[in-house]
Amino acid sequence: MELEKLLNKYFGYQTFKTGQKEVISSLLGGNHTIAMLPTGTGKSLCYQLPGYCLDGQILIISPLLSLMQDQVEQLMKFGEKRVIALNSFLDHEKRGYVLRNLTKYKYIFVSPEMLSLPIIINKLRALTVSLFVVDEAHCISQWGYDFRPEYSKLGEYRKKLGNPLTLALTATATKKVRDDIIQSLDLQKYNKIESTIDRPNIAFYVEDVPNYQDKQSRLIELVKLLQKPGIIYFSSKKIAEQTASLLAEKGISRAMAYHGGLDQEQRILIQQQFIHGQLDVICATSAFGMGVNKENIRFIIHYHMPMQIESYLQEIGRAGRDGDDSIAILLYSPGDEQLPVQLAESELPSELQIDWLFSCFPQKEILNDHFLEVNQHLREDGGFTEVQWRIIQDFIKKTLDFSNNEQLKHSLKEFVNERLKVKKVSIHYLKKWIKSKSCRRDLILDYFDEEDVKGNVKNCCDVCGIQIDQYQATESNQVYPASEGMWKDYLANILLNSELSE
Ligand code: ADP
Repeated sequence: MELEKLLNKYFGYQTFKTGQKEVISSLLGGNHTIAMLPTGTGKSLCYQLPGYCLDGQILIISPLLSLMQDQVEQLMKFGEKRVIALNSFLDHEKRGYVLRNLTKYKYIFVSPEMLSLPIIINKLRALTVSLFVVDEAHCISQWGYDFRPEYSKLGEYRKKLGNPLTLALTATATKKVRDDIIQSLDLQKYNKIESTIDRPNIAFYVEDVPNYQDKQSRLIELVKLLQKPGIIYFSSKKIAEQTASLLAEKGISRAMAYHGGLDQEQRILIQQQFIHGQLDVICATSAFGMGVNKENIRFIIHYHMPMQIESYLQEIGRAGRDGDDSIAILLYSPGDEQLPVQLAESELPSELQIDWLFSCFPQKEILNDHFLEVNQHLREDGGFTEVQWRIIQDFIKKTLDFSNNEQLKHSLKEFVNERLKVKKVSIHYLKKWIKSKSCRRDLILDYFDEEDVKGNVKNCCDVCGIQIDQYQATESNQVYPASEGMWKDYLANILLNSELSE
Protein backbone atom coordinates (compact mmCIF):
# COMPACT_ATOMS: atom_id res chain seq x y z
CA MET A 1 0.00 0.00 0.00
CA GLU A 2 1.15 3.52 -0.70
CA LEU A 3 2.79 5.13 2.33
CA GLU A 4 0.33 8.06 2.40
CA LYS A 5 -2.56 5.59 2.53
CA LEU A 6 -0.98 3.78 5.48
CA LEU A 7 -0.39 7.13 7.17
CA ASN A 8 -4.02 7.98 6.82
CA LYS A 9 -5.31 4.53 7.67
CA TYR A 10 -3.37 4.04 10.89
CA PHE A 11 -2.68 7.58 12.08
CA GLY A 12 -5.34 9.73 10.43
CA TYR A 13 -2.81 12.18 8.98
CA GLN A 14 -2.95 13.39 5.38
CA THR A 15 0.67 14.28 4.74
CA PHE A 16 4.08 13.42 6.07
CA LYS A 17 6.08 15.95 8.01
CA THR A 18 9.57 16.85 6.80
CA GLY A 19 11.87 13.88 6.70
CA GLN A 20 9.34 11.23 7.78
CA LYS A 21 8.72 9.73 4.35
CA GLU A 22 12.42 9.63 3.48
CA VAL A 23 13.23 7.83 6.73
CA ILE A 24 10.40 5.32 6.36
CA SER A 25 11.19 4.62 2.69
CA SER A 26 14.84 4.12 3.55
CA LEU A 27 13.94 1.58 6.26
CA LEU A 28 11.42 -0.25 4.12
CA GLY A 29 14.11 -0.48 1.46
CA GLY A 30 16.10 -2.49 4.01
CA ASN A 31 18.63 0.22 4.87
CA HIS A 32 19.93 1.04 8.32
CA THR A 33 19.08 4.67 8.83
CA ILE A 34 20.31 7.47 10.99
CA ALA A 35 17.80 10.28 11.11
CA MET A 36 18.48 13.68 12.50
CA LEU A 37 15.23 15.61 12.57
CA PRO A 38 14.34 18.64 14.65
CA THR A 39 12.30 18.26 17.84
CA GLY A 40 8.58 18.13 17.28
CA THR A 41 8.77 16.85 13.71
CA GLY A 42 7.20 13.53 14.59
CA LYS A 43 10.21 11.27 14.86
CA SER A 44 8.17 8.52 16.51
CA LEU A 45 6.14 7.99 13.36
CA CYS A 46 9.36 6.91 11.62
CA TYR A 47 9.21 3.61 13.54
CA GLN A 48 5.48 3.51 14.26
CA LEU A 49 4.46 3.29 10.62
CA PRO A 50 7.00 0.66 9.53
CA GLY A 51 5.49 -1.51 12.26
CA TYR A 52 2.52 -2.01 9.94
CA CYS A 53 4.75 -3.12 7.05
CA LEU A 54 7.33 -5.30 8.77
CA ASP A 55 6.79 -8.72 10.26
CA GLY A 56 8.18 -9.32 13.70
CA GLN A 57 8.74 -6.88 16.53
CA ILE A 58 9.78 -3.25 16.67
CA LEU A 59 12.16 -2.81 19.60
CA ILE A 60 12.57 0.76 20.77
CA ILE A 61 15.39 1.72 23.11
CA SER A 62 14.27 4.76 25.02
CA PRO A 63 16.17 6.73 27.65
CA LEU A 64 13.42 7.88 30.01
CA LEU A 65 10.50 6.22 31.73
CA SER A 66 8.27 9.24 31.12
CA LEU A 67 9.19 9.31 27.45
CA MET A 68 8.46 5.61 27.12
CA GLN A 69 5.15 6.02 28.84
CA ASP A 70 4.27 8.91 26.58
CA GLN A 71 5.10 6.90 23.49
CA VAL A 72 3.10 3.92 24.69
CA GLU A 73 0.15 6.24 25.19
CA GLN A 74 0.66 7.84 21.80
CA LEU A 75 0.40 4.44 20.11
CA MET A 76 -2.60 3.46 22.21
CA LYS A 77 -4.30 6.70 21.22
CA PHE A 78 -3.95 5.57 17.62
CA GLY A 79 -5.71 2.35 18.57
CA GLU A 80 -2.60 0.15 18.77
CA LYS A 81 -2.88 -2.24 21.71
CA ARG A 82 0.08 -4.50 21.01
CA VAL A 83 2.48 -2.23 22.85
CA ILE A 84 4.44 -2.68 26.05
CA ALA A 85 7.13 -0.85 27.98
CA LEU A 86 9.50 -3.19 29.80
CA ASN A 87 10.40 -1.03 32.75
CA SER A 88 10.42 -0.84 36.51
CA PHE A 89 6.69 -0.04 36.56
CA LEU A 90 6.05 -3.72 35.86
CA ASP A 91 5.78 -5.72 39.03
CA HIS A 92 7.36 -9.14 39.24
CA GLU A 93 4.23 -11.02 38.30
CA LYS A 94 3.31 -8.80 35.40
CA ARG A 95 6.85 -8.85 34.10
CA GLY A 96 6.78 -12.63 34.15
CA TYR A 97 3.53 -12.63 32.18
CA VAL A 98 4.83 -10.14 29.62
CA LEU A 99 8.10 -12.02 29.15
CA ARG A 100 6.25 -15.27 28.57
CA ASN A 101 4.00 -13.59 26.02
CA LEU A 102 6.35 -11.23 24.24
CA THR A 103 5.26 -12.38 20.80
CA LYS A 104 1.85 -10.84 21.45
CA TYR A 105 3.39 -7.40 21.34
CA LYS A 106 4.37 -5.51 18.23
CA TYR A 107 6.06 -2.49 19.78
CA ILE A 108 8.37 -3.18 22.70
CA PHE A 109 9.95 -0.27 24.57
CA VAL A 110 12.96 -0.91 26.74
CA SER A 111 15.67 1.12 28.47
CA PRO A 112 19.32 0.29 27.73
CA GLU A 113 19.76 -0.74 31.37
CA MET A 114 16.87 -3.20 31.10
CA LEU A 115 18.30 -4.53 27.86
CA SER A 116 21.56 -5.33 29.63
CA LEU A 117 19.79 -7.89 31.85
CA PRO A 118 20.49 -11.42 30.55
CA ILE A 119 16.90 -12.54 31.14
CA ILE A 120 15.56 -9.71 28.98
CA ILE A 121 18.03 -9.98 26.13
CA ASN A 122 17.59 -13.75 26.02
CA LYS A 123 13.83 -13.41 25.78
CA LEU A 124 14.22 -10.81 23.05
CA ARG A 125 16.60 -13.09 21.15
CA ALA A 126 13.79 -15.58 20.78
CA LEU A 127 11.78 -13.00 18.82
CA THR A 128 12.26 -11.69 15.33
CA VAL A 129 13.21 -8.09 15.90
CA SER A 130 12.53 -6.52 12.53
CA LEU A 131 13.50 -3.02 13.57
CA PHE A 132 15.91 -1.94 16.30
CA VAL A 133 15.22 1.69 17.13
CA VAL A 134 17.49 3.88 19.21
CA ASP A 135 15.56 6.92 20.31
CA GLU A 136 17.51 9.99 21.47
CA ALA A 137 20.55 8.32 19.95
CA HIS A 138 22.88 11.17 20.91
CA CYS A 139 22.98 9.52 24.37
CA ILE A 140 25.20 6.87 22.77
CA SER A 141 28.08 9.24 22.29
CA GLN A 142 30.63 9.05 25.04
CA TRP A 143 30.59 12.79 25.27
CA GLY A 144 26.81 13.03 24.93
CA TYR A 145 25.19 14.93 27.75
CA ASP A 146 23.61 12.02 29.50
CA PHE A 147 26.16 9.71 31.02
CA ARG A 148 24.60 6.31 30.55
CA PRO A 149 27.25 3.58 30.12
CA GLU A 150 24.67 1.06 28.92
CA TYR A 151 24.02 3.30 25.95
CA SER A 152 27.52 2.70 24.67
CA LYS A 153 26.85 -1.05 24.69
CA LEU A 154 23.88 -0.97 22.37
CA GLY A 155 26.04 -2.24 19.52
CA GLU A 156 26.76 -5.35 21.58
CA TYR A 157 23.06 -5.97 22.28
CA ARG A 158 22.20 -5.32 18.67
CA LYS A 159 24.68 -8.01 17.69
CA LYS A 160 23.12 -10.44 20.16
CA LEU A 161 19.80 -9.81 18.45
CA GLY A 162 21.28 -10.77 15.09
CA ASN A 163 22.10 -7.26 13.79
CA PRO A 164 18.53 -6.29 12.91
CA LEU A 165 17.57 -3.40 10.67
CA THR A 166 18.36 -0.29 12.70
CA LEU A 167 17.04 3.22 13.03
CA ALA A 168 18.89 5.82 15.13
CA LEU A 169 16.81 8.89 15.87
CA THR A 170 18.09 12.16 17.22
CA ALA A 171 17.34 15.84 17.13
CA THR A 172 20.62 17.33 18.18
CA ALA A 173 23.91 15.77 17.31
CA THR A 174 27.13 17.26 16.05
CA LYS A 175 29.13 15.40 13.43
CA LYS A 176 31.30 13.89 16.15
CA VAL A 177 28.24 12.56 17.99
CA ARG A 178 26.80 11.15 14.76
CA ASP A 179 30.07 9.38 14.02
CA ASP A 180 30.02 7.90 17.52
CA ILE A 181 26.47 6.62 17.01
CA ILE A 182 27.39 4.88 13.75
CA GLN A 183 30.55 3.38 15.16
CA SER A 184 28.95 2.27 18.39
CA LEU A 185 26.05 0.55 16.63
CA ASP A 186 28.51 -0.91 14.15
CA LEU A 187 26.51 0.14 11.12
CA GLN A 188 28.61 -0.69 8.08
CA LYS A 189 26.30 0.77 5.49
CA TYR A 190 23.53 3.14 6.31
CA ASN A 191 21.46 6.02 4.98
CA LYS A 192 21.77 9.34 6.66
CA ILE A 193 18.69 11.53 6.59
CA GLU A 194 19.19 14.94 7.98
CA SER A 195 17.00 17.93 7.90
CA THR A 196 18.10 21.25 9.25
CA ILE A 197 17.88 21.63 13.00
CA ASP A 198 16.77 25.20 12.46
CA ARG A 199 13.37 26.20 13.77
CA PRO A 200 12.72 29.49 11.96
CA ASN A 201 9.64 30.35 14.02
CA ILE A 202 11.65 30.46 17.25
CA ALA A 203 13.48 33.75 17.79
CA PHE A 204 16.61 33.87 19.97
CA TYR A 205 16.94 36.61 22.53
CA VAL A 206 19.78 36.96 25.00
CA GLU A 207 19.41 39.65 27.60
CA ASP A 208 22.15 40.87 29.91
CA VAL A 209 21.00 41.71 33.41
CA PRO A 210 23.44 43.37 35.81
CA ASN A 211 22.89 41.06 38.79
CA TYR A 212 20.83 38.32 40.32
CA GLN A 213 18.29 40.64 41.95
CA ASP A 214 17.57 42.36 38.67
CA LYS A 215 17.30 39.01 36.99
CA GLN A 216 14.45 38.03 39.24
CA SER A 217 12.50 41.21 38.67
CA ARG A 218 13.15 41.08 34.93
CA LEU A 219 11.84 37.52 34.87
CA ILE A 220 8.60 38.57 36.54
CA GLU A 221 8.23 41.45 34.07
CA LEU A 222 8.78 39.11 31.13
CA VAL A 223 6.37 36.46 32.36
CA LYS A 224 3.70 39.12 32.85
CA LEU A 225 4.36 40.56 29.41
CA LEU A 226 4.72 37.52 27.21
CA GLN A 227 2.07 35.48 25.52
CA LYS A 228 1.68 32.19 27.34
CA PRO A 229 2.01 29.24 27.83
CA GLY A 230 5.70 29.09 28.53
CA ILE A 231 8.44 27.22 30.32
CA ILE A 232 11.18 28.72 32.49
CA TYR A 233 14.23 26.49 32.87
CA PHE A 234 16.38 26.48 36.01
CA SER A 235 19.40 24.45 37.03
CA SER A 236 18.21 24.29 40.61
CA LYS A 237 15.09 22.58 41.96
CA LYS A 238 14.99 25.00 44.87
CA ILE A 239 15.02 28.11 42.71
CA ALA A 240 12.41 26.59 40.40
CA GLU A 241 10.15 26.10 43.46
CA GLN A 242 10.87 29.55 44.85
CA THR A 243 10.17 31.22 41.53
CA ALA A 244 6.85 29.41 41.11
CA SER A 245 5.81 30.76 44.54
CA LEU A 246 7.10 34.22 43.68
CA LEU A 247 5.15 34.24 40.44
CA ALA A 248 2.01 33.28 42.37
CA GLU A 249 2.65 36.17 44.80
CA LYS A 250 2.95 38.51 41.84
CA GLY A 251 -0.39 37.45 40.46
CA ILE A 252 0.70 34.76 38.01
CA SER A 253 -1.11 32.03 39.83
CA ARG A 254 -1.26 29.42 37.09
CA ALA A 255 2.41 28.55 37.50
CA MET A 256 3.90 25.39 38.99
CA ALA A 257 7.34 23.96 39.56
CA TYR A 258 8.32 20.64 37.99
CA HIS A 259 11.48 18.74 38.83
CA GLY A 260 12.88 15.31 39.55
CA GLY A 261 12.26 15.73 43.29
CA LEU A 262 8.49 15.46 42.86
CA ASP A 263 6.83 12.10 43.02
CA GLN A 264 5.61 10.40 39.86
CA GLU A 265 1.93 11.19 40.41
CA GLN A 266 2.56 14.87 41.02
CA ARG A 267 4.69 15.02 37.93
CA ILE A 268 2.06 13.42 35.72
CA LEU A 269 -0.58 15.75 37.16
CA ILE A 270 1.43 18.93 36.53
CA GLN A 271 2.43 17.79 33.06
CA GLN A 272 -1.19 17.07 32.14
CA GLN A 273 -2.45 20.32 33.64
CA PHE A 274 0.06 22.18 31.49
CA ILE A 275 -0.76 20.19 28.37
CA HIS A 276 -4.46 20.87 28.84
CA GLY A 277 -4.17 24.58 29.46
CA GLN A 278 -4.79 24.55 33.20
CA LEU A 279 -1.35 26.01 33.84
CA ASP A 280 0.34 28.87 31.99
CA VAL A 281 3.89 28.57 33.23
CA ILE A 282 6.12 25.72 34.33
CA CYS A 283 9.21 26.51 36.38
CA ALA A 284 11.20 23.47 35.39
CA THR A 285 14.51 21.75 35.62
CA SER A 286 15.78 19.72 32.70
CA ALA A 287 13.61 16.84 34.00
CA PHE A 288 10.69 18.49 32.20
CA GLY A 289 10.17 18.36 28.49
CA MET A 290 11.11 15.13 26.75
CA GLY A 291 7.86 13.63 25.59
CA VAL A 292 5.75 16.67 26.39
CA ASN A 293 3.67 17.07 23.28
CA LYS A 294 2.29 20.55 23.60
CA GLU A 295 2.00 22.46 20.39
CA ASN A 296 1.41 26.03 21.49
CA ILE A 297 4.27 26.84 23.88
CA ARG A 298 5.04 30.48 23.11
CA PHE A 299 8.14 31.14 25.19
CA ILE A 300 11.06 29.36 26.80
CA ILE A 301 13.11 31.37 29.25
CA HIS A 302 16.44 30.18 30.59
CA TYR A 303 17.00 31.63 34.02
CA HIS A 304 20.22 29.69 34.38
CA MET A 305 22.72 28.98 31.69
CA PRO A 306 22.53 25.39 30.39
CA MET A 307 25.67 23.24 30.19
CA GLN A 308 25.66 22.74 26.45
CA ILE A 309 24.32 24.15 23.26
CA GLU A 310 22.78 20.70 22.57
CA SER A 311 20.64 20.73 25.70
CA TYR A 312 19.80 24.38 25.10
CA LEU A 313 18.52 23.53 21.65
CA GLN A 314 16.49 20.57 22.95
CA GLU A 315 14.88 22.75 25.58
CA ILE A 316 14.00 25.70 23.36
CA GLY A 317 12.78 23.23 20.71
CA ARG A 318 9.71 22.63 22.87
CA ALA A 319 8.36 26.01 21.80
CA GLY A 320 6.29 26.68 18.70
CA ARG A 321 5.57 23.17 17.52
CA ASP A 322 2.41 24.57 15.91
CA GLY A 323 4.66 26.69 13.67
CA ASP A 324 3.55 30.00 15.20
CA ASP A 325 6.00 32.66 16.34
CA SER A 326 7.68 31.87 19.64
CA ILE A 327 10.64 33.22 21.55
CA ALA A 328 13.58 31.70 23.44
CA ILE A 329 15.01 34.13 25.98
CA LEU A 330 18.19 33.57 27.94
CA LEU A 331 18.84 35.85 30.90
CA TYR A 332 22.53 36.28 31.61
CA SER A 333 24.13 38.00 34.56
CA PRO A 334 27.91 38.19 35.03
CA GLY A 335 29.39 35.04 36.50
CA ASP A 336 26.43 32.83 35.51
CA GLU A 337 28.84 30.33 33.97
CA GLN A 338 30.04 29.41 37.47
CA LEU A 339 26.92 27.36 38.14
CA PRO A 340 27.25 25.01 35.15
CA VAL A 341 30.97 24.65 35.89
CA GLN A 342 30.14 23.64 39.46
CA LEU A 343 27.49 21.24 38.23
CA ALA A 344 29.94 19.71 35.77
CA GLU A 345 32.50 19.27 38.55
CA SER A 346 30.00 17.76 40.91
CA GLU A 347 28.96 15.16 38.33
CA LEU A 348 32.49 13.78 38.38
CA PRO A 349 34.35 12.16 41.25
CA SER A 350 36.91 14.53 42.80
CA GLU A 351 40.63 13.71 43.12
CA LEU A 352 40.15 13.46 46.89
CA GLN A 353 37.35 10.93 46.50
CA ILE A 354 39.45 8.87 44.09
CA ASP A 355 42.42 8.87 46.50
CA TRP A 356 40.11 7.83 49.32
CA LEU A 357 38.60 4.98 47.31
CA PHE A 358 42.01 3.54 46.44
CA SER A 359 43.14 3.88 50.05
CA CYS A 360 40.30 1.53 51.04
CA PHE A 361 41.69 -1.16 48.86
CA PRO A 362 44.36 -3.79 49.70
CA GLN A 363 47.48 -2.86 47.74
CA LYS A 364 48.26 -6.43 46.77
CA GLU A 365 45.25 -6.77 44.52
CA ILE A 366 44.14 -4.73 41.54
CA LEU A 367 40.94 -2.80 42.03
CA ASN A 368 38.28 -4.38 39.87
CA ASP A 369 34.56 -4.02 39.22
CA HIS A 370 33.79 -7.10 41.31
CA PHE A 371 35.31 -5.38 44.35
CA LEU A 372 33.18 -2.28 43.72
CA GLU A 373 30.12 -4.47 43.24
CA VAL A 374 30.48 -6.23 46.58
CA ASN A 375 31.55 -3.09 48.41
CA GLN A 376 28.68 -0.85 47.38
CA HIS A 377 28.75 0.73 50.86
CA LEU A 378 31.90 2.58 49.77
CA ARG A 379 29.67 4.67 47.57
CA GLU A 380 27.91 6.15 50.54
CA ASP A 381 30.96 6.16 52.80
CA GLY A 382 32.92 8.15 50.23
CA GLY A 383 30.01 10.50 49.47
CA PHE A 384 29.82 9.49 45.82
CA THR A 385 26.70 10.38 43.89
CA GLU A 386 25.07 7.74 41.74
CA VAL A 387 26.55 9.26 38.59
CA GLN A 388 30.07 9.57 40.08
CA TRP A 389 29.94 5.94 41.18
CA ARG A 390 28.73 4.83 37.76
CA ILE A 391 31.56 6.70 36.07
CA ILE A 392 34.11 4.92 38.26
CA GLN A 393 32.50 1.51 37.82
CA ASP A 394 32.32 1.92 34.10
CA PHE A 395 35.92 3.05 33.85
CA ILE A 396 37.19 0.17 35.98
CA LYS A 397 35.12 -2.33 34.02
CA LYS A 398 36.58 -1.16 30.74
CA THR A 399 40.14 -1.00 32.03
CA LEU A 400 41.51 -4.48 32.30
CA ASP A 401 45.22 -4.29 31.66
CA PHE A 402 46.69 -2.44 34.60
CA SER A 403 49.52 -3.90 36.58
CA ASN A 404 49.09 -1.78 39.68
CA ASN A 405 46.62 0.41 41.49
CA GLU A 406 48.81 3.50 41.28
CA GLN A 407 48.69 3.32 37.54
CA LEU A 408 44.96 2.66 37.56
CA LYS A 409 44.31 5.57 39.92
CA HIS A 410 46.38 7.85 37.75
CA SER A 411 44.54 6.94 34.60
CA LEU A 412 41.13 7.28 36.30
CA LYS A 413 42.11 10.81 37.34
CA GLU A 414 43.22 11.55 33.81
CA PHE A 415 39.95 10.24 32.44
CA VAL A 416 37.95 12.39 34.85
CA ASN A 417 40.02 15.47 34.01
CA GLU A 418 39.51 14.86 30.34
CA ARG A 419 35.75 14.64 30.81
CA LEU A 420 35.73 17.83 32.83
CA LYS A 421 37.71 19.57 30.13
CA VAL A 422 35.17 18.55 27.50
CA LYS A 423 32.32 19.82 29.67
CA LYS A 424 34.11 23.10 30.28
CA VAL A 425 34.69 23.56 26.56
CA SER A 426 30.92 23.21 26.02
CA ILE A 427 30.16 25.75 28.73
CA HIS A 428 32.76 28.09 27.31
CA TYR A 429 31.21 27.78 23.87
CA LEU A 430 27.80 28.68 25.22
CA LYS A 431 29.25 31.68 27.04
CA LYS A 432 30.88 32.79 23.80
CA TRP A 433 27.54 32.42 22.07
CA ILE A 434 25.86 34.53 24.76
CA LYS A 435 28.49 37.28 24.43
CA SER A 436 28.69 37.16 20.66
CA LYS A 437 27.72 40.06 18.47
CA SER A 438 27.05 37.81 15.47
CA CYS A 439 23.75 36.28 14.43
CA ARG A 440 22.85 33.69 17.05
CA ARG A 441 21.11 31.40 14.58
CA ASP A 442 24.12 31.37 12.26
CA LEU A 443 26.40 30.40 15.14
CA ILE A 444 24.19 27.50 16.18
CA LEU A 445 23.84 26.21 12.63
CA ASP A 446 27.58 26.49 12.27
CA TYR A 447 28.10 24.46 15.46
CA PHE A 448 26.01 21.66 13.97
CA ASP A 449 28.01 21.86 10.73
CA GLU A 450 25.11 23.27 8.78
CA GLU A 451 26.13 25.75 6.16
CA ASP A 452 24.05 28.36 4.39
CA VAL A 453 20.78 26.77 5.32
CA LYS A 454 19.29 29.70 7.12
CA GLY A 455 16.40 30.71 4.93
CA ASN A 456 14.41 33.84 5.13
CA VAL A 457 13.84 34.06 8.86
CA LYS A 458 11.37 36.78 9.75
CA ASN A 459 12.30 37.16 13.41
CA CYS A 460 15.81 35.88 13.89
CA CYS A 461 17.54 37.07 17.05
CA ASP A 462 18.38 40.04 19.23
CA VAL A 463 21.58 40.63 17.26
CA CYS A 464 19.74 40.74 13.93
CA GLY A 465 17.10 42.89 15.61
CA ILE A 466 13.81 41.80 17.14
CA GLN A 467 11.55 43.41 19.71
CA ILE A 468 10.31 41.44 22.72
CA ASP A 469 7.04 43.38 22.55
CA GLN A 470 6.15 41.44 19.43
CA TYR A 471 5.65 38.41 21.65
CA GLN A 472 3.42 39.98 24.23
CA ALA A 473 0.07 38.73 25.38
CA THR A 474 -2.93 40.52 23.94
CA GLU A 475 -6.65 40.10 24.38
CA SER A 476 -6.81 38.17 21.12
CA ASN A 477 -3.95 35.73 21.67
CA GLN A 478 -4.82 34.57 25.19
CA VAL A 479 -5.33 30.86 25.41
CA TYR A 480 -8.26 29.96 27.57
CA PRO A 481 -8.08 26.86 29.73
CA ALA A 482 -9.82 23.65 28.92
CA SER A 483 -12.60 22.87 31.34
CA GLU A 484 -11.62 21.29 34.60
CA GLY A 485 -13.69 18.21 33.81
CA MET A 486 -11.85 17.69 30.57
CA TRP A 487 -8.38 17.35 32.01
CA LYS A 488 -9.62 15.27 34.93
CA ASP A 489 -11.13 12.84 32.45
CA TYR A 490 -7.92 12.87 30.52
CA LEU A 491 -5.83 12.17 33.59
CA ALA A 492 -8.11 9.35 34.66
CA ASN A 493 -7.70 7.95 31.19
CA ILE A 494 -3.93 8.15 31.31
CA LEU A 495 -3.78 6.42 34.68
CA LEU A 496 -6.15 3.75 33.44
CA ASN A 497 -4.11 3.21 30.32
CA SER A 498 -0.89 2.96 32.26
CA GLU A 499 -2.52 0.39 34.49
CA LEU A 500 -3.63 -1.50 31.43
CA SER A 501 -0.21 -1.34 29.91
CA GLU A 502 1.35 -2.77 33.03
P1 ADP B 1 9.41 14.31 18.22
O1 ADP B 1 10.00 14.51 16.88
O2 ADP B 1 9.66 15.49 19.12
O3 ADP B 1 9.78 13.00 18.85
P2 ADP B 1 6.74 13.18 18.17
O4 ADP B 1 7.07 11.95 17.45
O5 ADP B 1 6.41 13.04 19.61
O6 ADP B 1 7.85 14.31 17.98
O7 ADP B 1 5.52 13.89 17.39
C1 ADP B 1 5.07 15.18 17.70
C2 ADP B 1 3.60 15.30 17.33
O8 ADP B 1 3.44 15.34 15.91
C3 ADP B 1 2.75 14.13 17.82
O9 ADP B 1 1.57 14.63 18.38
C4 ADP B 1 2.47 13.33 16.56
O10 ADP B 1 1.29 12.58 16.64
C5 ADP B 1 2.39 14.44 15.51
N1 ADP B 1 2.66 13.96 14.14
C6 ADP B 1 3.57 13.05 13.76
N2 ADP B 1 3.55 12.88 12.43
C7 ADP B 1 2.60 13.70 11.95
C8 ADP B 1 2.10 14.00 10.62
N3 ADP B 1 2.59 13.38 9.55
N4 ADP B 1 1.12 14.90 10.52
C9 ADP B 1 0.61 15.53 11.61
N5 ADP B 1 1.04 15.31 12.87
C10 ADP B 1 2.02 14.42 13.04
